[in-house]
Amino acid sequence: MSTLEIKDLHVSIETEQGVKEILKGVTLTVKTGETHAIMGPNGSGKSTLASTIAGHPRYTVTSGSITLDGEDVLAMSVDERARAGLFLAMQYPVEVPGVTMTNFLRTAKTAIDGNAPAIRSWTKEVKEAMAQLRIDADFAQRNVNEGFSGGEKKRVEILQLELFKPKFAILDETDSGLDVDALKVVSEGVNRAHAAGNMGTLLITHYTRILRYIKPEFVHVFVDGKIAEQGGPELADRLEEEGYDRYLAGAGTAV
Ligand code: ADP
Ligand code: MG
Ligand code: MG
Repeated sequence: MSTLEIKDLHVSIETEQGVKEILKGVTLTVKTGETHAIMGPNGSGKSTLASTIAGHPRYTVTSGSITLDGEDVLAMSVDERARAGLFLAMQYPVEVPGVTMTNFLRTAKTAIDGNAPAIRSWTKEVKEAMAQLRIDADFAQRNVNEGFSGGEKKRVEILQLELFKPKFAILDETDSGLDVDALKVVSEGVNRAHAAGNMGTLLITHYTRILRYIKPEFVHVFVDGKIAEQGGPELADRLEEEGYDRYLAGAGTAV
């Protein structure tokens, strides 16, 4: 079992108006095998947490820690984080012009594992994973994310998740912009990755609808850069009915 531990994390960014603190003391522990949903209104800092775990240079950790089995994640480069077993599906996946999906997947897999996958079984695995995610076979020869629709990018993210087999997946708004069919396909992929690899998942979402397909054991509500409430799946049910108004009334910030 592995543990991703976030302790009293404070994160700031540079803005034109000066330094702004976005995360104001976040403490959260995720173990492999567990699914945690991070929910909350827009602007509450959910993506900031995801980007900080991923090592985005824009975000400065002013205090607190992130460790993976005791190793300091914040001291790791972005590549080292991936090799340590962290997977981050970005809210806005980037295009990689001139690199085909096939080459990208194999290169990334090799970098993450430290050795190249056996070609025959790898090709088969990629093919099967693509079919399960209803990604057309000709995507293999297309450039990464170039001209992909929003839904196609999300499927390709989950394809990477299934192939790279991380210890921890941080999925930021994987549900945004998906129709019900695509949401189902993507959720099934996450659930397969979960079942196959004893993965820990941080599922970040504004809406509750993805939680019909992916069942978190733990729900954390983010408000104004902090966890305002924690609970089990019943908390997500309550949010579906009540929304976030109750938290915002007390937060004193416009969002
Ligand atoms: P969420 O994902 O919950 O919607 P974010 O983490 O994206 O929230 O944003 C949290 C807060 O930080 C918001 O007030 C947002 O405007 C601010 N913020 C995030 N990134 C930047 C940035 N690069 N420049 C200015 N403000 C930012
Ligand atoms: Mg603090
Ligand atoms: Mg966000």
